[in-house]
Amino acid sequence: MTTDRLPLADRWFQAEQVADGLTAITEPHVHEFLRANIWHLRGSRRDLVVDAGLGVLSLRHGAPQLFEHDPALVVTHAHLDHMGGAHEFDTCYAHPAEALHAPAPGTLRGERLTGVLGLEGAYAAELPELMVDAAPGPEFTPDSYELRPPKRWLPLEDGDVVDLGDRRLTALHLPGHSPGSVALFEPDEGVLFSGDVVYDLREGEELLDTINGAHVPDYIDSLTRLADLPVTVVYPGHGRPFGSTRLLELIHAYVDSRT
Ligand SMILES: [Zn+2]
Repeated sequence: MTTDRLPLADRWFQAEQVADGLTAITEPHVHEFLRANIWHLRGSRRDLVVDAGLGVLSLRHGAPQLFEHDPALVVTHAHLDHMGGAHEFDTCYAHPAEALHAPAPGTLRGERLTGVLGLEGAYAAELPELMVDAAPGPEFTPDSYELRPPKRWLPLEDGDVVDLGDRRLTALHLPGHSPGSVALFEPDEGVLFSGDVVYDLREGEELLDTINGAHVPDYIDSLTRLADLPVTVVYPGHGRPFGSTRLLELIHAYVDSRT
């Protein structure tokens, strides 16, 4: 086991309000590739949390506001950067095609992660030795990290509605990145929480469709389905929100490159 000397982070989670009642929580000391968004949507009756981060530091400890208002957690898929903190929630939903109870092993080492996810090409070459650049606490060592399954989780199927009182979101089963990837769509507002189905790619980046569990024909069908929805804003699993024009650009670029 290697002893890695990491500086201690002042604060592990960073919260930013991005819209009325909606906050993005991120982990700035996690490498970009694994730095996923935790979305916190306030509802009149209960809150929704979309994805649960990497699970390096306890969310109850570092982001206790998530737990104040009977949160329903939706895990968009069973990758470590989205389900790491799921075990801290009492109510956790995910699509049954995702193995939340037996996820691939978690690791913060780039080389091991490449193997675990089945990464290829540029991504595999670019991952650093360590996926964090600071420690969340004095006791932390990179090799003490493990991915824990949720205590209990409930199936979320295509068409199921998550009711927050004043806001209602519909689950969409959109396989391709993983077999049970789900997005949440709020038809009244045109709001889409997309997980890793689609996010704003930078120059040279591609959607991950060759990793373990990915499937190109399903991915094409899922994105084609999204193209027909009246989306106004996308809150993705990684990076910044974006609008419908960019969504369609990303969808068409992908579908054109794979057909
Ligand atoms: Zn993913």
